[in-house]
Amino acid sequence: MHTVCLLPGDGIGPEVTSAARRVIDESGADIEWVPLPIGATAIELLGNPLPQRTLAAIAGHTVALKGPVTTPIGKGYESVSVRLRKKLNTFAAVRPVRNLPGIESRYSNVDVVIIRENTEGQYSGIENEIAEGVVQSLKICTAHASTRIAKFAFDYAVMRGRKKVTCFHKANIMKKSDGLFLECARRVHQQYADRIEYDEMIIDNGVMQLVRDPSQFDVLLLENLYGDIVSDLAAGLVGGLGVVPGANIGEACAVFEPVHGSAPKLARKGLANPLACIMSGVMMLNYLGETEAAKRIRKAYDRVLAECSRDVLTPDIGGAGTTQTFTNAIVEAL
Ligand code: NAD
Repeated sequence: MHTVCLLPGDGIGPEVTSAARRVIDESGADIEWVPLPIGATAIELLGNPLPQRTLAAIAGHTVALKGPVTTPIGKGYESVSVRLRKKLNTFAAVRPVRNLPGIESRYSNVDVVIIRENTEGQYSGIENEIAEGVVQSLKICTAHASTRIAKFAFDYAVMRGRKKVTCFHKANIMKKSDGLFLECARRVHQQYADRIEYDEMIIDNGVMQLVRDPSQFDVLLLENLYGDIVSDLAAGLVGGLGVVPGANIGEACAVFEPVHGSAPKLARKGLANPLACIMSGVMMLNYLGETEAAKRIRKAYDRVLAECSRDVLTPDIGGAGTTQTFTNAIVEAL
């Protein structure tokens, strides 16, 4: 049996995490769930969006499935998800973006894995008003974190039989910070040069190339902010945020969560697509070594997407169904 922390989060988080939990339980994987508050619920219960108790439980059990958390815009507390990644040192975000059966999108040949540095960059949270009307925001880039994420990306490529790592950067402008990120990637590549191809693109050209012909990319290596933005852009290539899973991996802990946010306008309407969270659950099962259960779930949702009537699927992917009808269909296919 595996013990997994379950963090429902805000907005559509409770709906999609409960769908994922149900599907995972039906898959035959033996999971003991430890539900924990995070975000708005945690503020209500304990006056803190990221309670020490929640942090300690994840650190102790080492694996969590997490829903999205709402972050106040332009004011208020720091993003709970960002804080969690820093506190647990889950330094690598892994976001596989691929076409799924039956989901129409502009392309049919997308199979890209985004590897995002999760702990520094513009997400340092260090911002100061240095004079009235003048604000500075610190971008942190260290050789340690840049080397670590580059190594993670190349190791991932080797393990998954991938061919190429492409680093997006803006080192023409941020010569020191992105320059260092790039230098570390190049240095790490030396150890993999016989197995994995490596190239670089200035990010503005990179995103243009990505929307023009995504099939030219395999594994993308990005610092924190670029990785965040490019993940959502890439999701748009395959049917949207409802179908892209994610994992935050560190040396001691791993937190699995969909790429999407809390979608407050969709909350409690029963219309959220649970698939991104279910797919994050599949990544989690593979991480736990429950590969048979993971395979079963993947086969079940592929079948539902390919064969079920549109009435079953959620509206974001062209259906007329609900979170419930989609989840029921996956459970039935299992
Ligand atoms: P969002 O991802 O919540 O929503 C963007 C768009 O995608 C909306 O149109 C939404 O309806 C749609 N969408 C997202 N997930 C969907 C799903 N499962 N099914 C169907 N449609 C879906 O992004 P946002 O509106 O920019 O952010 C909302 C809040 O979420 C903000 O407070 C933001 O800070 C937070 N957020 C949290 C995380 C996280 O906790 N990991 C990630 C991103 C955003």
